[in-house]
Amino acid sequence: MLAFAEQALAIGVLSELASIWGPYVWGTAAGWKIIGVFAALQLLLMRLVPGKRFHGPMTPNGHVPEYRANGVACFLITIGLFLGASYGLHWFDPAIVYDNFPGILGALNVFGVSLCLLLYIKGRRFPSGPDHGVSGNFLFDYYWGTELYPRILGWDIKVFTNCRFGMTGWAVIVLSFAAKHVELNGSMSDSMIVAVIIMMAYLVKFFIWETGYLCTKDIMHDRAGFLICWGCLVWLPAIYTSPILYLVHHPRELGPAWSVVITLLGLSAVAVGYLTDRQRQMVRATGGNCTVWGRRPRCIEVTYRLEDGDERKSLLLASGWWGVARHFRYTPELLVAFLWSVPALFDHFIPYFYVSFLTILLLHRALRDEERCRSKYGEGWDEYRRLVPSYILPGLRFQGVTIRGGRPR
Ligand code: NDP
Repeated sequence: MLAFAEQALAIGVLSELASIWGPYVWGTAAGWKIIGVFAALQLLLMRLVPGKRFHGPMTPNGHVPEYRANGVACFLITIGLFLGASYGLHWFDPAIVYDNFPGILGALNVFGVSLCLLLYIKGRRFPSGPDHGVSGNFLFDYYWGTELYPRILGWDIKVFTNCRFGMTGWAVIVLSFAAKHVELNGSMSDSMIVAVIIMMAYLVKFFIWETGYLCTKDIMHDRAGFLICWGCLVWLPAIYTSPILYLVHHPRELGPAWSVVITLLGLSAVAVGYLTDRQRQMVRATGGNCTVWGRRPRCIEVTYRLEDGDERKSLLLASGWWGVARHFRYTPELLVAFLWSVPALFDHFIPYFYVSFLTILLLHRALRDEERCRSKYGEGWDEYRRLVPSYILPGLRFQGVTIRGGRPR
C-alpha cells in the first residue's frame, strides 16, 4: 500500500515537473536570441580584445596550449555593454534575463547537448592536438570528452564554455536578477546587496586569476565533454545563481551590522582563495625563490614522467596556505558559497542547494586530486603528506583512497 502511494507521489511530482518544464524544453525564441547574441559577443571579444600571450602547463603528450590573456577586459566590456545598453540606452529591460530565464535555460540545454555531441565527433575525427582518445564506450566518451584542448576555427572551446560563457554569463544573470528584485520590491534589500557584492567579488577575482584557472584540473586534466562543457553552459547558470534567484522574491532585512559582517567575511574568503592560488603560482614561477608569509617557503622537489617517458621536475609547496592542509583551497571556496547564501536566512533549503552540491563536488574533487597527485608524483607526494598531514582543514586527517578504474589522466 505504501509502495503504491510512493509510486503515485513520484508520478505526480514528475508530471508536475513535466508540465512546468514542457513549454521550455526546446527553449523560446527570445531565449535563443539572447544566448545567440551573448555567444557571438563572447566569441568576438575573445578574438578582438588584445592580451598578453600565455602558455598553459605542458600536457602528458608534451603539448603546450597557448592563450590570449584578455579575460578581465572581456569581462568588463561585457558588463559595461549590459549596463550601458539597458540602463543607459534603454535597448532592453535589465531584468531581461530573469524574464526569459526558463526559455534561456531550455535553449542552453539544447545548445550544450548538441555542442558536446559535436565535440565528441570532432575529437574522434579531427582532433586539435595530441591529447585526445576514446575508451570505446560512447556514453563514457560523450560524458568525459574525447579531447583535452579542442579548438574550432582558432577558438578555444574550454575558454569559451567555462570562462567567457559560463563565468561572464553568471555575472550578467546576477545583475539581471538584482534588477528584477528592485522592480518587484521598489528598492534593493540589504540581503540582496550583500549576496550580489560577494558573488561579483568572486567573479571579478576569477577573471583577475583567469590564467591561473587555465592551469587547474578543469583545464589540464578534465576533457571537454558533457561533464565540463554542459556543466558550464547549463548547470552553472541554473544552479550557481540560485541563491540570488531566491532573493528576488524573498527579500530579507539583515540590518547594517549583519550586512557588514557577512560582506567582510565573504570578501575575506574570496581574498584567501585568491592568495592560496597565487602562492602556488608564484612559487612555481620563481622555482621557490620568493617569500611566503614573509619567509622562504618550504618546497618539495618532485619528478613525474610524460607519456613519452621524458622526466620533468616540479615543486610542491608545503608552506603558507598549502602548509595548512593539502586541499585547503576548497575551504574558502565553500565558505564564500555559504556566505552568499546566508543572506536568505534559514526559511528554506533552496538557497543552500548550491553550497550543499559544492560540498559534495569538492570533497569528491579532493579525493580525485589526492589520487592523481599520488600517481603522478609517487614518493614526492608521500613526502608532502608527511609534512602536511591535514586534508582539507587543519586537524582533519585523511590519507585518501585508491579510486580504481579511474578516468584517463
Ligand atoms: P587546482 O588544480 O587549482 O589545484 C590542485 C593541483 O595543484 C594539483 O592537481 C596539483 O597539480 C597542484 N598541487 C597540489 N598540491 C600542491 C602543492 N602543495 N604545491 C603546488 N601545487 C600543488 O585545483 P582545482 O582545479 O580542484 O581547483 C581550482 C579552483 O577552482 C579552486 O579554487 C577550487 O576551489 C575551484 N573550483 C570551483 C568549483 C565550483 O564549481 N565552484 C569546482 C571546482 C573547482 P600539478 O602538480 O599537476 O600542477
